[in-house]
Amino acid sequence: MPARILDGRALAAELRLGLAERSTVLRARGIIPTLAVVMVGDDAESASYLRRIKRVATDAGVEIVEHLLPADVGESAVRLRLATLGGDPTTHGVLLQQPLPRSLSIRAIADAVPARKDVDGANPANQGRLAFGTGAAFVPATPAAVLLLLERSDKWPLRGREAAVVGRSSVVGLPVTLLLIGHDATVTVLHRSTVELAAHLERAEVVVVAAGKPGLVTGAMLRPGATVIDVGTTLVDGKTVGDVEFASAQEVAAEITPVPGGVGPVTNIALMQNVLTAAERQSASSHAI
Ligand code: NAP
Repeated sequence: MPARILDGRALAAELRLGLAERSTVLRARGIIPTLAVVMVGDDAESASYLRRIKRVATDAGVEIVEHLLPADVGESAVRLRLATLGGDPTTHGVLLQQPLPRSLSIRAIADAVPARKDVDGANPANQGRLAFGTGAAFVPATPAAVLLLLERSDKWPLRGREAAVVGRSSVVGLPVTLLLIGHDATVTVLHRSTVELAAHLERAEVVVVAAGKPGLVTGAMLRPGATVIDVGTTLVDGKTVGDVEFASAQEVAAEITPVPGGVGPVTNIALMQNVLTAAERQSASSHAI
């Protein structure tokens, strides 16, 4: 029997209702939940992402304010803009959009994203809190979306489950790994130097793939009945494709996310959840900024 589709669009539509309720409560108190998006240079994929999150923000009652900086801006100017937003009481969330131009390094700048407004969990302080297991962190939106999808899967709760994560980036693979460990799964992390992916994947009941390599994981590599979350998004001949070979994987897995329509729509919702959480926290404590 082909795998059940873990439908990200349907989940996003369901979660959107809760967002609108939360922003209505804030707006009734005179607080307009606001996300500042800092973009450096003009990256086409970033611009299209911004258009997508603007649509979700409108439904969620969240304002988005764009801060477009020229591609040749220096590190100190970006840091200054982030610090200014940190001190602005009308801004609740700050997102530093990636990729940055080659002249700038996210590793050198991420600590300037104001930690209390760091709604995509980019600041190393928030990454540390996630690793430390404290509740105050903002979980980066894509890893949060992976967890929201897994909560709806037949592998939930994850306690004692064998899980494999393909990819160890600081934006997806690593935080996903920390979240799965936090839910008591036994996690194997695979990366470019892993000698044989299949030898690890064949044990995994939960597989999360975030490599950016179309077709990297095939059905033949999977454990029958696995739940597969495909985070990958690569543009191939004008179409967005995932890292999992969907046709073969669907024959082996019990559940699978499609690309597009899986992790992506839930990621946008997770980002708005973080903006609302930031606004609620900041309004609860006037000296919190
Ligand atoms: P990244 O920074 O390039 O990291 C890719 C990771 O995959 C690295 O850890 C890399 O290993 C590993 N990898 C690459 N090729 C591999 C291979 N052949 N075998 C095993 N591991 C391999 O990418 P990212 O930012 O994490 O993004 C990953 C994918 O998710 C991309 O397609 C991106 O577009 C997508 N994405 C989607 C969303 C969404 O909302 N749906 C959000 C963010 C990202 P090494 O560490 O050894 O180099």
